[in-house]
Amino acid sequence: MADIIHPSIGKEAQEALQARLRFYRDLGIHEFYRQEVAPNQLAVSEPALPQPVIAPQAVAAPPALFPQLQEETEIAPRKPFPSAPPIAAPIPPEEHFAALKLIRDDIGDCTRCKLAPTRNKLVFGDGDPNARLMFVGEGPGADEDASGLPFVGRGGQLLNNMIQAMGLKREQVYIANVVKCRPPANRTPEPDEAHTCSPFLFRQIDVVHPKIIVALGQTAVTYLTGEKRSLAAWRGTVHPFRGDIRLIVTYHPAFLLRDPNQKKHAWADLQIAMRELGLTPPARK
Ligand code: URA
Repeated sequence: MADIIHPSIGKEAQEALQARLRFYRDLGIHEFYRQEVAPNQLAVSEPALPQPVIAPQAVAAPPALFPQLQEETEIAPRKPFPSAPPIAAPIPPEEHFAALKLIRDDIGDCTRCKLAPTRNKLVFGDGDPNARLMFVGEGPGADEDASGLPFVGRGGQLLNNMIQAMGLKREQVYIANVVKCRPPANRTPEPDEAHTCSPFLFRQIDVVHPKIIVALGQTAVTYLTGEKRSLAAWRGTVHPFRGDIRLIVTYHPAFLLRDPNQKKHAWADLQIAMRELGLTPPARK
């Protein structure tokens, strides 16, 4: 995300722009044209928001009139996702805790990617090593980076409420992220970072071996599955995942904090998870 923001844009405008880009991303819109703007214009005007590209091939215009379309055709094809590691054999429940500790020890004081120098605490994961339900987020934010635990900030409070609404306690689920170190300024993890870190996530998944994984947002589902589809295409159904696990996709809590109107849709997704787990919501007090 950061690389499409011009360095001469002020800090406040950058933050607003990054928030807007995160909003687009949560909606499943990833591709943006870089619109060339003269530096003197940038200094005096509000930054123009990049235009999301939903279906570039649908724009039938002579390339000479739309230089940015020419730029798009010159971009090298996206590298294929590395395939997920083979599924590890299940291990007895009483060994899950120790197996997770082994993964944590393997990660060590990690310097495998460029997130290492700026992190405070590595955020491995948290919860019941035998959980039937696992949540996967994107990566630690400031609160998580400070505490070493996933989802403890405002988004974490909302996730706790969502878990409670399902009739569960946070300690009964397992929570982890695609990347274990905070990306600077909470930017989206870059592909090299996610691909370096996700093998550890897959190992955690194979150990915990939950019945259901709820992917929180676009980054989580993209790196879990290696497929880039919009959230709308993922949501609303149950997807087979790594053998007998079922994957359900919903919005990231940070997106729900920005657009609370979407909470009802997230609740519908969680109800799919509850149905799969045979859970009924607790009676309202
Ligand atoms: N957002 C995430 O995706 N994960 C966290 O742990 C916290 C915020």
